[in-house]
Amino acid sequence: MSGGTELVQGKELSYQEVVEKYPEIPRLIILKIDVQRRGVHYTEKALNNIDESLHQLRSPYIFGARDSKLTPVPESLLLRDGTSIIVDPTPAEQNPYIVDFVEGRFVLVDKEEVLEEVDLWQKPKFYDKKTSSGIAMSHIISARPQRLNIFQSGFCHFWANDKGCRYCDIVSHFKQQRSELGIPSKLTPQDVSEAIKEALKEEGRFTGICLTSGSDTRGEEAFDQEVDFYLEILQAIGENFATKKFPSQLIATAFNEKQLARLYEETGLMSYTSDLEVLNEQLFNWICPGKAEWIGYQEWKNRLIRAVDIFGRGFVSTGIVGGVETAKPYGFTDENEALKSTLEEAEYLASKGVNTVYIVWVPKPGSSFKGQKNPSLDYFVGLAKGLHELRIKYSLPIDYDDYRRCGNHPDTDLSRLL
Ligand code: SF4
Repeated sequence: MSGGTELVQGKELSYQEVVEKYPEIPRLIILKIDVQRRGVHYTEKALNNIDESLHQLRSPYIFGARDSKLTPVPESLLLRDGTSIIVDPTPAEQNPYIVDFVEGRFVLVDKEEVLEEVDLWQKPKFYDKKTSSGIAMSHIISARPQRLNIFQSGFCHFWANDKGCRYCDIVSHFKQQRSELGIPSKLTPQDVSEAIKEALKEEGRFTGICLTSGSDTRGEEAFDQEVDFYLEILQAIGENFATKKFPSQLIATAFNEKQLARLYEETGLMSYTSDLEVLNEQLFNWICPGKAEWIGYQEWKNRLIRAVDIFGRGFVSTGIVGGVETAKPYGFTDENEALKSTLEEAEYLASKGVNTVYIVWVPKPGSSFKGQKNPSLDYFVGLAKGLHELRIKYSLPIDYDDYRRCGNHPDTDLSRLL
């Protein structure tokens, strides 16, 4: 299968050439995308200048890194305009950006040129605390500069018959975290509630709570058990709020209307995201065989559209693994065609009130796409620009998932331009 036969010709544009091509896109956001695309490597000097009392080191995460390790390097970076770069440590031989420490500052370096000063994330105060059951709170909630991530369970049932998504390493990563860090396989509502209570003591820092985990196909109706578990966790989080609703996002399977109505009515949940991962039915069937088997591409889209009736316009989105549509051997071979096709499908969803956001595809060593190369910087900037322009065209807000509440998606970083 291929979206086109024409191969991308010629040399990839450099970072500087891409900056010149897109004068309307902030240079620091283009830099963020390229750093996410290529990864980072920390020099010994940078590692020696980490202050563990101040800086946030890696805590458990749902997916693994490009170096397949759990070494305590900085969680991620901040640029001087406040842009977060959520980025994996990457082996030096894979040509990543370098994070060095020069003249008292952490800096991003490429080809021996210092490009930018960077900050390490500040460690939240709750990271040094434990729940009453004795678990480190940093193993319950993973913080970003502005949000709290809860990964309730590290297993995805699509892997039960080996139909997990081909770019995904959740199961191998989870097993590694459990054996090396001793993280719990499933969180309890009590632990989550206690950790949230502690995190909220740091007033003004966090703007939202995000929950996600793998799919759980079990239940009277498929995925009922996944929904039941989210209900329990969300209700436990809600104990810490005086209002019924609290700033929150659930990234989960595409549920039916009954399941979605339960989530909306019985919890404080405010927004719902269900990831199609790739906006092309044939590629979806190949790349996400478990999602295709249990729900299917068209029904997944329909469930997203129906979720708008429950959560409201601007409170429903789908995430895509930007660039995975070019994965070999069946993906697009022409980046222009891949971009056009993805944006057309995103436009259809936007016209129905569903946002599309992307993360940069990183071919992880624990996934079946290991060793592949992600697309050009030019492609990823075009994707960010295209998705942002769709939101303008359809007046579709993305407040719950932008640079203030998430900080991962290059396209929603552009919301600051509005
Ligand atoms: S749904 Fe796909 S991407 Fe998500 S955890 Fe399961 S296999 Fe991984």
